Order: sequence, then structure tokens, then C-alpha cells
Amino acid sequence: MAWVLSGLLTDRRDAAPVERHGFAMSTYVRLVIHDRKGAEIADSCLEELARLESVFDRFLPGSEISRLNAQAGAGWVEVSEDLFAVLEVALDVAERSGGALDLSVAHLVDLWGFHEQDGRIPEHPPPNDREISHQLQQVDFRRIEIDPSRRMVRLPEGVRLDMGAVAKGYALDCLAALASRQGARAALFDLGGNIKVMGTKPDGSSWRIALRHPRRLDEFFAVLALSDKAVATSGDYQRYFMWEGERYSHILDPRTGYPASEVCSVTVMAPTGVLSDALSTAAFVLGVEEGRALLESMPGVEGVFVDRELQTTVTSGLEGLSANL
Ligand code: AMP
Ligand code: MG
Repeated sequence: MAWVLSGLLTDRRDAAPVERHGFAMSTYVRLVIHDRKGAEIADSCLEELARLESVFDRFLPGSEISRLNAQAGAGWVEVSEDLFAVLEVALDVAERSGGALDLSVAHLVDLWGFHEQDGRIPEHPPPNDREISHQLQQVDFRRIEIDPSRRMVRLPEGVRLDMGAVAKGYALDCLAALASRQGARAALFDLGGNIKVMGTKPDGSSWRIALRHPRRLDEFFAVLALSDKAVATSGDYQRYFMWEGERYSHILDPRTGYPASEVCSVTVMAPTGVLSDALSTAAFVLGVEEGRALLESMPGVEGVFVDRELQTTVTSGLEGLSANL
């Protein structure tokens, strides 16, 4: 009887955490699951990431997004729940940010050559103004049409979508949902610095998330204590190339066609991964003042900006955060 009782009373979270590393969605994956079925759950999380790549990776032949892009100009296309859910959030954030987030930047991203080879972007000259203004003509989120009643999307001819600003965040939501369906109550999912934490740690304490110094990449400048939250960072150090002493980083300002350069990094906390990811990219483009106003306008959202002088600015819910840059 005592054995039965202790079996019933043992919390599944009390098992030693399972930590798993991998590579998916073009980035490093780290899973920490406090559950006695942690190994099984981690396996299914890695499978889930492979499935999501086949939805969101526009360079994967046959992926859903590459099929949708190929049908630009050919009318309405029915899409999966995953793709539709991400488009809805991205279009909402595009609208709220005045187009600072705009998934129709794919051609422009390609023109700038933000593609890694063996983990880095080779040095190359930036495109010229004429090429940029030509590609900029195709960038306009208002021309992406969605029909929720039929779960359909219509892209005009010449428009291609890049899901890089939002897919990792959405994947975190999928991982958390999957782990939760399998009974997990405490877990951390990290996709290249986009993080989602589920519950608290088994001892009841919050998860501690360190924020990377945007110029001294092996150092951290602040620590956030979080539970049940998603955190995304957009940074100019994550993917960039140098040319003649200038840094050209991968987040483009859809208003100019050039890399946004007011801030070095923006970290956004939000209730869902997809929202934190969409907002971090939008806030990076908007910069400190407008970016902060955008984050303040949304419930349950906070953010930390680091500008080019390495000054930090935080939203009102994070006042008192100790930052050390
Ligand atoms: P993130 O790291 O989440 O800020 O996303 C950056 C990625 O999104 C880039 O590598 C591009 O693929 C894409 N991207 C760049 N600029 C924008 C933009 N203004 N709106 C939407 N996607 C963008
Ligand atoms: Mg993002």
C-alpha cells in the first residue's frame, strides 16, 4: 500500500531532467524536460521540428511555403493550420508596426545575400540602390490576402514570403503543446536563442534566462526570471556580413530596403513564441522609441532594447532590471 501511495504521490517532474541537443530550422536546438518520460518527449519534439521545417523552410524543395510561393499570382491556395496561424499573427503585427515586420521581404533578403554557407555569410558587396528599389516594389504585406473561413491565402504575382522572422517562435509553441499533451509540466525549449519555458522548475523556482551581450558574445548582460513565457531576441550579431568595415545585418527595414541599424538587439517576452518572435523583429526595425511604444501597447508583452551606444531601454514592466553592458 505504501508503495502504491508513494507511486501516486511522486511528481513526474521529480525525475532528473532530460537535456537534448540538436540542429533544426537552421539553428541549434536545446530541450530541457523535467519529466520521467523526458527522453520520449524530447524525441517527439525533434520529430515535430522536422515536420515544421517541411512547412516553413522556403529553401526546402516541396515545403509548404515553397509551394505557396510558387503559386503567387495563381489565385487562392488552401494552407495548413500551421501556416495559416503564423500568417495571421504576422499580418496583425505587420499592421500594428506599420509594416516594420513584413514577410514579403524574401526577394530582398535574397538580393542582400543573407544566406549562410558553413555557418557564416561570405563577405560580399551590398547590392546597389537601383537593385534595392526594384526589389522593394514587391514588398508590401497589404497585398498578402488571407481568408480565415476557408483557410486560404492569395499572393500577388512576384511576391514571395520569408518565414524566418516568425517560424522559430511558432515552433516553440508547437513543442510546448506537444510536450504538454504528453504530460510534461516543466520544460525549456531553446531554438537558437528563441526560448519558451513551460511551468516553473520542479522546485517551484522560475527559469533563469540570460540575455547575450550584443558585442561580447560570450558574455551576458542581464538575467530574466520567467515561467510560462516565450522570449525572442533579434540581434545584428546573429547573421551579418562585413564589407569595407561596415556591418550589414539580416533584419531589413521594409521602408528603405536597407538593414535596420538603430539597435544592436531587442529581446521580447510574450505569452506565445510566435508573438515574441514577430514582435522582436518588428521592434528591431522600429528602434527604441517606436518599438517600445509598440510593445507597451500589447498586454503581457515586455522588452529590452540595446542601442548602438550599448544603452539599454526597457518597457515599464521591466523597470529595475539590472543590466550590465
Ligand atoms: P528574427 O531573427 O526573428 O528577427 O528574423 C530575421 C529574419 O527574418 C531574417 O533572417 C530574414 O529572413 C527575415 N527578415 C528580415 N527582415 C525582415 C522584416 N523586416 N520583416 C520580416 N522578416 C524579415
Ligand atoms: Mg523574429
